[in-house]
Amino acid sequence: MTPLKDILGAMRTTAEEDRDLVRRAYEFAQRAHDGQTRYSGEPYFVHPAAVAKTLAKFGMDATTIAAGLLHDTVEDARASREEVEKEFEKEVLFIVDGVTKLGHHKYRGAERHAESLRRLLVATASDIRVLIVKLADRYHNTQTLGHVPPHKRRRIALETLEIYAPIADRLGMGQVKRDLEDLVFPHIDPDAYAHTLELRKAKTKETEIGLAKVQKELRKEFVKKGLQDFRTSIRIKGLWSLHQKLIRKHDDITLIHDIAALRIVVPKLEDCYVALGIVHALYRPLPGEFKDYIAFPKPNGYQSLHTTVMTSEAGIVEIQIRTEEMHRHAEFGVASHMSYKLLGKEIEQLDRSTQRSRFSALSFSWMRSLIPSLMHVSSATKNADQSSAESPHWLVELADAHAIIAESQAFVEGLKEDFFSRRVFVFTPQGDVVDLPIDSTPIDFAYAIHTDLGDHLQGAKVNGKFVSFDTKLNNGDIVEVLRRESAHPSPKWLDHVKTALARKHIRLALGMTEPDKPRRRRRAAKHPTPTHEDVKR
Ligand code: MN
Repeated sequence: MTPLKDILGAMRTTAEEDRDLVRRAYEFAQRAHDGQTRYSGEPYFVHPAAVAKTLAKFGMDATTIAAGLLHDTVEDARASREEVEKEFEKEVLFIVDGVTKLGHHKYRGAERHAESLRRLLVATASDIRVLIVKLADRYHNTQTLGHVPPHKRRRIALETLEIYAPIADRLGMGQVKRDLEDLVFPHIDPDAYAHTLELRKAKTKETEIGLAKVQKELRKEFVKKGLQDFRTSIRIKGLWSLHQKLIRKHDDITLIHDIAALRIVVPKLEDCYVALGIVHALYRPLPGEFKDYIAFPKPNGYQSLHTTVMTSEAGIVEIQIRTEEMHRHAEFGVASHMSYKLLGKEIEQLDRSTQRSRFSALSFSWMRSLIPSLMHVSSATKNADQSSAESPHWLVELADAHAIIAESQAFVEGLKEDFFSRRVFVFTPQGDVVDLPIDSTPIDFAYAIHTDLGDHLQGAKVNGKFVSFDTKLNNGDIVEVLRRESAHPSPKWLDHVKTALARKHIRLALGMTEPDKPRRRRRAAKHPTPTHEDVKR
């Protein structure tokens, strides 16, 4: 059991208010889970306590750590949302709710589902901290996967590999991604795991002695050239990532040069290029292998210089050069940014509410960098008609990632509102995401998929249960519509639809070619007074 003092010890903040929040959450969760056990037979509270410690290590704020402690209390324990709300600040409940909701999306096991679910998770998390708690939750669950019943184990392992590891990667949390992959690898393919482990062991032993010599030589050279403040380490490639590369290289390990890499961490950005100069003067670089991710960061924000050089001591060696800050980002990604920027001196002097808004602005700046990829969601909605007619302006705005202005609170609020309160994301049974306005019904859904499906809509199921046509769809619903040739739209449907697309096609099917005509005709019938046209005739 992770003791409270371990969590407090891992926290970056020393503010008494923050520590008190974590203390209260610890005690509350411990009480709420009293008497419950995990598959391993351990007390349930072991889990949320471990999650909280991971969050503290990521450098997350007290609110997030408290939410980590409480994340399973509403779902699995005897605490109610009201109790959590009464005892803690609103934001804590917001994160707990978010994590609980995310837990309801079940992985259905095909690649397109994975991509859809990944997008959906990002879209519905609405506060990046929800996703980070979810990652910490999954992190501990994969560490204890051996205790889970075999049929469940495989599903969790696949889900981790195909959904959570890519999310960690997208958030720039390299270490979390690597750990998640390697923790589930033996459960996915035990033979490949054993094989890769053995290959890596043999190869590492062979290069390790050589690398140590290279390291020593470089250190000497650095000091000679006046670079005093630096550290070097050897990083070993993750097993899953090595396995993937082995597949690409037809199992020929001699073609893989980055099993062990030498990492050099320096204080300032300029030092990176000085260090690179020293490395290249000492060892001949392999042509075409140098990558400047400092000038051109990876999409997830990763920065480093990568070069591959020929050494006499260790053969071909990959060398990575980065600053401390880049290193933290590479390991903890978005989390490292939040904490380090937030807990900087000037920010500590701000009052708490300003800190908060800074915090959420910061998390949203990351959300925004994730959101342009959501553009595919609406283009995946096959009916081109819909996307052109209803492509929401906010989506167009968001797509223009370069047009991002400052962290204006108004923008953040606007984003939050437009994005998360006006749209719902639902699934087809095949796992495709359909993006609809809020309050949409199965009729809107059917027309969004295909006009013919709407025109012959016979029935609808939401999450496996038959529902009426006026049922409002919620985020994450799996919607299935049934088609029958003899089924046709009824005028009543017009009251149940939200999209202009559905409205238009229902009218067409009912023979109301233009919205205004039928009304005029009806009026004409009610009042037999001759109309203008009649008079003319
Ligand atoms: Mn959990």
